[in-house]
Amino acid sequence: MAGDRLTNKWEKEFLDQAESKIGTPMTRYLCPKCKSELTLKTGKKGEFWGCSEYPSCDYTADNVDGRPVRKKRYLCPSCQNPLRRREYKGEWFWGCTDYPKCKITLQDEDGVPATTKKYPCRACGHYLVRKKGAKGHFWGCIKYPECRNTLDDDRGLPKLRKSTK
Ligand SMILES: [Zn+2]
Ligand SMILES: [Zn+2]
Ligand SMILES: [Zn+2]
Repeated sequence: MAGDRLTNKWEKEFLDQAESKIGTPMTRYLCPKCKSELTLKTGKKGEFWGCSEYPSCDYTADNVDGRPVRKKRYLCPSCQNPLRRREYKGEWFWGCTDYPKCKITLQDEDGVPATTKKYPCRACGHYLVRKKGAKGHFWGCIKYPECRNTLDDDRGLPKLRKSTK
């Protein structure tokens, strides 16, 4: 019982001290790639976590409530290079990192590239993705500009043209 009281006293002293001396408790996070320490950095888009061994290690993670959260990587449906989220005139979209060699762009849906809805391109056998053009949404082939097949958008679905007529 005496031991408990001692522990509690020690704990209280420790907590008192912690409150007065440690303003911002820092938790250390390690880089999963090279096991070095991750440091919180500030970039153009706000805070993010980067490896302290940068530039020899290029690991980065998003900052979510002070913790590093690994970015999800999305691959280009055409060439399998990673996609990058970009902003153009206040609208987010996903573009291939192999641009301008690969001109794939995908619509952004809540921070995720809209690749879930796939509809086959009847012209070339690849598939169509929903895009936003000057006149609104439409469906274009992922092989654009090699394949210029497009379909009108009908409330989020490609409007299939009737094969007859
Ligand atoms: Zn690293
Ligand atoms: Zn690509
Ligand atoms: Zn096509």
